[in-house]
Amino acid sequence: MTFDHDIKATVRTIPDYPKKGILFRDITTLLADARAFRRAVDELVQPWAGLKIDKVAGIEARGFILGGAVAHQVSAGFVPIRKKGKLPHTTVRIAYSLEYGLDEMEMHADAVRPGERVILVDDLIATGGTAEGAVKLLRQIGANVIAACFIIDLPDLGGAAKLRAMEVPVRTLMAFE
Ligand code: 5GP
Repeated sequence: MTFDHDIKATVRTIPDYPKKGILFRDITTLLADARAFRRAVDELVQPWAGLKIDKVAGIEARGFILGGAVAHQVSAGFVPIRKKGKLPHTTVRIAYSLEYGLDEMEMHADAVRPGERVILVDDLIATGGTAEGAVKLLRQIGANVIAACFIIDLPDLGGAAKLRAMEVPVRTLMAFE
C-alpha cells in the first residue's frame, strides 16, 4: 500500500456522455475507492484547517456527497442548493446558465445567516455557470463566501477564472485539459 494514492487515476472518463462529443468525467469511481475518497476530502479542506467555517453549501447532486463529508471534516453545518421545486420551506431562487439555456436553483432562505462563513462544494467546475449562480444565491442572503472547492477543474472552459473574478478563492485538486 502506498500513501501517495493517485486520486486522478480513480476518475473514470466516459466518451459521448451525456451526448456525442462530450468526455464525461465520472467521479463515482473515486467515491467508491475508500482511500481516494478520504484523500480527496482531506485535500479539499486543507486550506481551512483551524479556521472557523459556519456552513458548507453543496450543489445537487454530487456536491451533496462531497459537501456532507467536507462539512463533517471542518465541523460546519451543511446546506443543500437544489434544482427548483425540491425544497419544502421558504426559498430564495436564482436563474443560472447551462451549456444550452437556463435553469433555476434554490436554497432555503434561512439556511445561512448574514455574515456566516460559507464554503461552496461541487464535484467539477466547467463553464462555472452553476457555481456562479450558487455564489450569487449565497451572497443574496448575506453569506460570506470564503471559497469554492471542486475535485475537478476543466480549465479550458474558464469556470475557475470566472469565480476568481468574483473574488471567490477557488480550490481544485486536478485538471483535465
Ligand atoms: P458548469 O456550470 O461549470 O458548466 O458545469 C458544472 C456542473 O455540471 C457541475 O454541477 C457538475 O457536476 C456538472 N458537470 C458538467 N460536466 C461534468 C462532467 O464531465 N463530470 C461530472 N461529474 N459533472 C459534470
